[in-house]
Amino acid sequence: MSLSPEEQQKQVLYRDARITGKYNDIWQSVGKCVFCDLNKKYVFFEENNVVMTIALYAYIDGHFMIIPRRHIRSVKELTPSEWETMRKFMYLAKKLIRETHGIKGMQLVQKDGIEAQSTVEHLHFHCVPFDEPDLSVWNYRQLKNTPLENTQHYKKNRDTMIKLSKRFDKKYKHGT
Ligand SMILES: [Zn+2]
Repeated sequence: MSLSPEEQQKQVLYRDARITGKYNDIWQSVGKCVFCDLNKKYVFFEENNVVMTIALYAYIDGHFMIIPRRHIRSVKELTPSEWETMRKFMYLAKKLIRETHGIKGMQLVQKDGIEAQSTVEHLHFHCVPFDEPDLSVWNYRQLKNTPLENTQHYKKNRDTMIKLSKRFDKKYKHGT
């Protein structure tokens, strides 16, 4: 593959952005939704308006994303047919990582909400080849609650859950 010096330089910038700290600067300067405007040279598989595309700012070689082409924010907005394709792609993703990189583990990551997601409001699942636990270290917290206490906290919100469940059924449920 022969690239212009500029393009090669850009590729290296993408490759190293996570460790040089450039990633944060870059994101500040992106105005539009990059996932609506996917660069087709990075898309390597597509069915039913759902794509697999390379992560430009990868955590590890082989990191890619599953993205519906429609600009939707949440899984609740997926059509049954899109969801079925996403489901299939999650299966294919793990197989592909194993086939390509010889790595048997995959972390499937979907970040939701402003505190979890630094990037865009366009639904995407990260497929991250997972070779060693050090790739993703959790900073565990000192807990205040035991498992039973945590269960009780959620149980107290049962009424809210029922209300939300009904609202979901009304707005987003697909025919059975
Ligand atoms: Zn979008």
